[in-house]
Amino acid sequence: MKTKTKRGYKDLSYFKPKECPFCQAKEVIKWGFRYNHITKKRRYKCNKCKKLFVVDDGFWKRKKQREFIAQCIDLYVNGMSLRKVKTHIEQFSETTISHTTIARWLRNYAILVKDFTDKLPIETSGIYHADEIFVKCNGEENYYWDVIDAHTRFLVATHYSDNRNSQNAKILFLKAKGRANLPNIIYTDGWRAYQKAFRKVFWNRYKENKVDFIRIIEKEDTRNNIVERIQGTIRERIKVMRGFKNPESAKALLDLLIVYYNFIRIHQGIRMTPAEMCGVNLNLGQNKWLGLIYRSKNKF
Ligand SMILES: [Zn+2]
Repeated sequence: MKTKTKRGYKDLSYFKPKECPFCQAKEVIKWGFRYNHITKKRRYKCNKCKKLFVVDDGFWKRKKQREFIAQCIDLYVNGMSLRKVKTHIEQFSETTISHTTIARWLRNYAILVKDFTDKLPIETSGIYHADEIFVKCNGEENYYWDVIDAHTRFLVATHYSDNRNSQNAKILFLKAKGRANLPNIIYTDGWRAYQKAFRKVFWNRYKENKVDFIRIIEKEDTRNNIVERIQGTIRERIKVMRGFKNPESAKALLDLLIVYYNFIRIHQGIRMTPAEMCGVNLNLGQNKWLGLIYRSKNKF
């Protein structure tokens, strides 16, 4: 008796190619499947140049199953260290895997999904909270900066630097300015560098014309504790990542974390993802990481 193996995709329509990768012709038809030891893929044929091809869905030339890779990413962003992810995976599957491979996946997919999600238009409430966190990387003091939108809980801008000065605060504000519509208020702690950076980026003589009514106030009494809690959660996760070896991978992994907070994780306070609060609905399906990687690769 023939047993049907459960391999392949659930939704093939996701990856229908728009054109032939060789000659850019639009006449592309389905042409069976291509099999290898890990998966089955829909194959296409170009009617013009007669070449066969498969669509790169973000897992091109990966030696492990996609579900497996998505699982590693998810375990990692949920708080496991690289080595714990490795142990977990090896314990519950037949394969062995090195923690450097996992680290490479994390870096590569961080870049992929970050590029995609950064370009999605978002609607924020315009009440921003800026803060910075100390991160240890290779024995040195680095800083992770973020700007959170109070109402949607969306991480509007983040920045990673080896220095805590107003120059970096300025970069953070510039990123926040470029990401969404102009904010109404920005809250920061009492640190002076923010004030300086703020003046450089947002200060505008014509307050009546532009809606940028922004003020910087002291932390203690008026600070929104919902935002404080989000930053606490991120801080907690960063502490686990203490094994940063170089700033590049630290940055990539933090980016992954940000995408997770904005687009994947259902926020308990608002019962949806911050991205959904901002009007972004990606329909990522059940395996959200897979869905996000597919969409990021094919930009739809
Ligand atoms: Zn062709």
